[in-house]
Amino acid sequence: MSFGERVKESLISNAANGLAVSFSGILIWMCTQIGPILAKALSDNASPSLLLTLLLGSLAFNIVFLIVFWVTRNNNDMTLKYGIYWDSKCNPHCPNCKIPIGGYSDGYTSGAGYYCKPCGKVFPLSDAHGNDINPEVALKELTGNV
Ligand SMILES: [Zn+2]
Repeated sequence: MSFGERVKESLISNAANGLAVSFSGILIWMCTQIGPILAKALSDNASPSLLLTLLLGSLAFNIVFLIVFWVTRNNNDMTLKYGIYWDSKCNPHCPNCKIPIGGYSDGYTSGAGYYCKPCGKVFPLSDAHGNDINPEVALKELTGNV
């Protein structure tokens, strides 16, 4: 990976982090709005042991969420080859939205390629010369390089 690509990648991941931070900001703000109402309702009805259970429960939920987030993030390592993203198990993913795509055909009106339904586009499988190649060839090269 070149220096430029590294910079681009870190910018993209930082933008995602920024988005996550601002989203948590909104969540925290919502909690400060809902919190006092909840606290009043709880202090009228709940025992300290219930409050402690709720607190520990939410803490456990947060830890599970973090682990899931970390695992899915690490499994998202994808290689871009022949204009298509490939995951570690050589499944094709849309080069635009990165969701898994499986529908390869050479009968599309815009030519051969993988069709991504959400994007509504056919992404051709082609080498650096622009020549269309078969998924079998791409897979053979991908698994050969691993
Ligand atoms: Zn897509």
